[in-house]
Amino acid sequence: MIRVRFAPSPTGNLHIGGARTALFNWLYARAKSGKFILRIEDTDSVRSKQEFVEEILNSLSWLGFNWDEIYYQSKRFDIYNEYAHKLLNEGKAYQEKAIGKSGEAIIFKVPQQKIKIQDLIRGGIEFDTALIKDQVLIKSDGTPTYNFACVVDDAAMQITHVIRGDDHISNTPKQALLYEALGFTVPEFAHLPLIMGIEGGRLSKRTGATAISDYRKMGYLAPALVNYLLLLSWAPGNNVEVIDINEAIKLFDVTQVNRTSATFDLKKLDWISNQYLKNADPEKLLEELLPLLKAKKYIGEDGFDRDYILKLVKLFQARLAHLNDFVDWADFFFVQELKISPEAEKKFLAQDLSGEFRLFIEKLDKLGKFDILSIEEGFRELVKELNIESKALIHPIRVALTGKTIGPGLFEVIYYLGKDRTKERLSHWIKGER
Ligand code: GLU
Repeated sequence: MIRVRFAPSPTGNLHIGGARTALFNWLYARAKSGKFILRIEDTDSVRSKQEFVEEILNSLSWLGFNWDEIYYQSKRFDIYNEYAHKLLNEGKAYQEKAIGKSGEAIIFKVPQQKIKIQDLIRGGIEFDTALIKDQVLIKSDGTPTYNFACVVDDAAMQITHVIRGDDHISNTPKQALLYEALGFTVPEFAHLPLIMGIEGGRLSKRTGATAISDYRKMGYLAPALVNYLLLLSWAPGNNVEVIDINEAIKLFDVTQVNRTSATFDLKKLDWISNQYLKNADPEKLLEELLPLLKAKKYIGEDGFDRDYILKLVKLFQARLAHLNDFVDWADFFFVQELKISPEAEKKFLAQDLSGEFRLFIEKLDKLGKFDILSIEEGFRELVKELNIESKALIHPIRVALTGKTIGPGLFEVIYYLGKDRTKERLSHWIKGER
């Protein structure tokens, strides 16, 4: 049975890189009907924080990477000590007292040899351990080092495949020596390629090294983010980019992961995100959006018109790249005091349009039916009568009603705002009626 693990250190939030490692482990387990194990590497009691453990678990759950087993290294110190003493007794390690420290460290005698590892992604890699110093297994304060705890646990947890970031490649020979010394079978290794920022170099805060919880706050749907993470180092083939995770589970194999480094491109993420949002069930989107609208106090805790908001969601859905876009773009449907962008006002409402706006209001009042089509007809009649171009009036009306220069079709905006609010917002710009 395939057993893989994701082994985060809770010294920070779950970021893009960690989430991709978690995804590829989880996906491989699901693809091969194996087990996905979560191991919290919290041996450093100073830097490890409970809040990060919670943040990591919440982010993994939100992404849908459900784990089959969970372990905390901080609760396993006895096991590491036992194995360290085994190596001591066998003469493969020695004790050393550090100056000024009370306890004694246990140190592994690194045997000089050549090591060959067949990495499932990178192929054969050779190391010469002559360059590796003797390795601390247990520090003088009794805590195990990463390499040692990792090997003891991977063996104890019967991990068959170690799938992790390329940044750990230099640890691999050290770990391979420890497996041998302890008489454990060496697992398969698969090192995932580096993720670079769009301008090259490591991911920085600006280029995407942001916590998964922040992407959630920014309004990405979890399946969209997972889909994007997937594309960072794997392609489903046939130029498919938008892929359901259950489809991916059927197709995925870790040996097909790209060898070359990946580039984190926010624009691409937004494109994927838009694909998910535009095809989402509007009812489900509404469920995700209601808390955001409540947080903004655009609607109350209850007593809002759900069906009306659902229609607004449908009006914007095709353009959304983030859930929050709806909150930002559709604000004018919810606020009493319309905020008008100063540039938009300067560009489209600087001239006096009192006459035109008054006539348009009259047209709206005279409509037999207040529906999208009739509103458009009324508008077309007016521009014909005034002998002006549509756009001379469309943009100013849009800015007066929405505060923005872009948005959904104007006649739909008017219809959903309703006649009263439309008249009120236009009147604001009619001299003598303010
Ligand atoms: N705790 C290590 C990390 O967060 C795990 C490395 C590994 O997967 O072996 O990078």
